[in-house]
Amino acid sequence: MSDVLKPSRKTPPPEMAAISPPLSPTLKLKKVPKELSPEESSEVPDNYVSYTLRNNKPRDPITWNNIFRELNYLTLFILTVTPAIAIWGLFTVQMQWKTAAFSVFYYFFTGLGVTAGYHRLWAHRCYNASRPLQYFLAAAGTGAVEGSIKWWCRGHRAHHRYTDTELDPYNAHKGFWWSHIGWMLVKPRFKPGTVDISDLSKSPVVRWQHRWYVPLILGMGFGIPTMVPGLLWGDFLGGFVFAGAARLTFVHHSTFCVNSLAHWLGETPFDDKHTPRDHVVTALVTIGEGYHNFHHQFPMDYRNAIKWYQYDPTKWFIWICSRFGLASHLKSFPDNEVRKGQLTMQLKRLRETQDMLEWPVDGEELPVISWQSFQKQSETRPLIAVAGFIHDVASFMDQHPGGRNLLAKNIGKDATAAFFGGVYDHSNAAHNLLAMKRVGALHGGMAHGSEERMIPPSQKLRVARYNEMGSPYNSSTALSDGEGLLGY
Ligand SMILES: [Zn+2]
Ligand SMILES: [Zn+2]
Repeated sequence: MSDVLKPSRKTPPPEMAAISPPLSPTLKLKKVPKELSPEESSEVPDNYVSYTLRNNKPRDPITWNNIFRELNYLTLFILTVTPAIAIWGLFTVQMQWKTAAFSVFYYFFTGLGVTAGYHRLWAHRCYNASRPLQYFLAAAGTGAVEGSIKWWCRGHRAHHRYTDTELDPYNAHKGFWWSHIGWMLVKPRFKPGTVDISDLSKSPVVRWQHRWYVPLILGMGFGIPTMVPGLLWGDFLGGFVFAGAARLTFVHHSTFCVNSLAHWLGETPFDDKHTPRDHVVTALVTIGEGYHNFHHQFPMDYRNAIKWYQYDPTKWFIWICSRFGLASHLKSFPDNEVRKGQLTMQLKRLRETQDMLEWPVDGEELPVISWQSFQKQSETRPLIAVAGFIHDVASFMDQHPGGRNLLAKNIGKDATAAFFGGVYDHSNAAHNLLAMKRVGALHGGMAHGSEERMIPPSQKLRVARYNEMGSPYNSSTALSDGEGLLGY
C-alpha cells in the first residue's frame, strides 16, 4: 500500500479534538440489548436482519404435535366462517340484482379503504388527506375486516423494510400460500422487524379507529351491508350473505393477493433485487395494487401504475379526491429516477443477450506480428490485413459476395482502403463478420486518426459493468509494442 493510501494516525487538529468526546480507558461499548432497533442503538450492526435473527430464537417449527397450540384462532374463525356463509348463501339464498350491484359497490368501497387508506395513506404517507376523507377511509377500510390501521401498517412497514426476510411478516420466500394467508393463521415464527409508527400513534383518526375497532367491524363489515339492502329493498338475508360474507371473502383474498400474487407473477421492470412483480392480472384483482415491482421501488409514490392505460383505480380515486380538495401533496417519485431503474433492467437484459453472442478475439489476446512475418505466413494461408488486424479468410473465400478473386488479390496485403470504400464500402455486418476472422494484430497497427475502423460496429456501443469499462472487447487496446508470431 502506498503512503498516500495509509490511514492517517496523526493526532486530530485542536479544533477537532475540542469536539471529540473525552476518551476514557474505562469506557467500553455496551452490548446492545436484543430488543433495541437500529435507530435506538448506538452500535449499528453490519446487517440488522442477520443480527436480529442470530440473537432471537424463533418459535418452534409447526408440527402435527403443536399445531393446535400455534393456531391463531380468531383469524382462522373469520377466514373460514365468512367464506362458508358465502358458499351456503350461494346455494340457498335468491340473489336480487340490486343486492348484487350493491355488493360489487361495497367491495370497491371497502377495498379502497384498504388500498387508498390503510396502504397508500397510512402505511406509506403517499399523500395528505383531509380529516373527512381520513374518517371515510378509516370507516371503509374497517369494513374489509383486516385489523386496525395501526396493526396493519405496522406489519406492512416491516414487509417493505425487511422484504423477503424472516423479519417480513409475509415473506414471499416462504411460499405462495404462506404469504397469501398462512402467515395469519399461525402465530408469527419471528416478531416482525422493528419499524417506526409514531406518526400513526399520534393520528386522532387512527387512534379513534383502533379504540372502536370491534364495534366498527361489526357495523362496517356486516351491519351496513345487511341493513342497506334490508331497509331499502327488503333483502336483509341477501345483504348479509352477498354484500356481507361473499363481498368480504372477495375483499380479503383480493388484498391478500398483494402479498402473494404480486410477489410471484409478472415482470420486474424497475428492479430485480427482491420478489415484487408487476402484472395486470394482479392489478385487476387488487384494485390497482398489481404494479408491485414499481411500488416496492417507489413506495411513497401515490401511484402503482405510471402509464395512463394501466389499471389503477386507487390512484384515480386519490387523484379525484385531490381535485375536490380532499387530498393534497400527492407524492410522485422523480421521473428521472424511475427511468434510471427501467434503464438498468433493460441493460441487464441486453447484457444477457450480449453474453450469449460470440465476439471477436480481444485485441490484447492476439499475437502481434510484423509486416514481414505476415507476408511470409500469407504464402501458406489466406491472410488479409484490415484496420490493423490480420484475418484468416480461408473459410470465407467461396462465400464472399464480391467473389473469390477480390479476396485472393488482397492476400498478404493491407486491404483497409479497399474494404472501407476503395473497392467497396462494406456494410456494418460485413465488418462485424470480418472481425470474427482475426488471428493477429499487425505491428504498427493503424495510422493515427483512423482507430475507429478497428472497432467493429457491433462493439462500438456495448453494455459494460463499471469495473469492465475500457477493457473487454476493446480493440483499441489491442496493439502493443513488440513482435510475435501467429500461432498455428
Ligand atoms: Zn410487497
Ligand atoms: Zn406497500
